[in-house]
Amino acid sequence: MSFRDWLRQRYWQRIRKRPFALPTAVFQQSALVFAPHEDDETLGCGGMILQKRAAGANVGVVFMTDGRQSHAHLMPVEELIAHRRQEALDACRVLGVAEDHVSFLDFTDGYLSEAVETAVSPVLDLLQQYQPAEVFIPYIKEPPADHVATNLIVMAALKQYSQPVTVYEYPVWFWYHWPWVSLDLHHQGERKAIVKNTLSTFLGWRLFTDFNCSLDISPVLAQKCLALEQHKTQMFSLMPDKGWLTLHDVAGGDWLACFFQEKEIYRRFQSLGSS
Ligand SMILES: [Zn+2]
Repeated sequence: MSFRDWLRQRYWQRIRKRPFALPTAVFQQSALVFAPHEDDETLGCGGMILQKRAAGANVGVVFMTDGRQSHAHLMPVEELIAHRRQEALDACRVLGVAEDHVSFLDFTDGYLSEAVETAVSPVLDLLQQYQPAEVFIPYIKEPPADHVATNLIVMAALKQYSQPVTVYEYPVWFWYHWPWVSLDLHHQGERKAIVKNTLSTFLGWRLFTDFNCSLDISPVLAQKCLALEQHKTQMFSLMPDKGWLTLHDVAGGDWLACFFQEKEIYRRFQSLGSS
């Protein structure tokens, strides 16, 4: 067994042992899920959404940006935006969330950090409309600027919102570090980014300092996989062009595998509300 496999096994043992597991009572709680891009909802909390919907909880999904950056060099922007919107609706349907519970705020993909102030108001409107018991947002310390901006926008809106809610931060790009992804076989730029993330997560130890709960998703793994496959532009090479990268290409597939482990992990805390 490689040192990397050994360490991942030790990490999993620790996740399983800690009094870390969320009770199934959370499935009954209504939720609003904020995704920076069309695919983050399924990657980060698809297993949670599926089990909430199976329990009959009200769940809404909000997409912050239009997804125009993923393959902008290979497809006209308007066409790509239209694809990603339809894919998001298809994925949500597989997750059990109907079209009338999906919102698109349509900020420009890649530039959400420039729209933080403008975005607070529509997010506050959605909070007032749904009045969710729980809110799901990306993990604050993961690299993409749109992910950090989504967290900041929703947290700013929650400050103005009158009710306390339970906040769950979900990791997406957090997983992009060793030992979860290999340091072998990547091009120089990717290897450099992985090394940087590995250092900033203290060889992955941040998993235990920053995240405090986990959810068993093994009963719904196949359905989560099916939901992710609806994001066709992200999961399949739509053109015979080597430049069309998919999520399978990130760290040679190691990164994508992180979302199909037995548990989703979260950082859970209580927002205080304005009153
Ligand atoms: Zn994203």
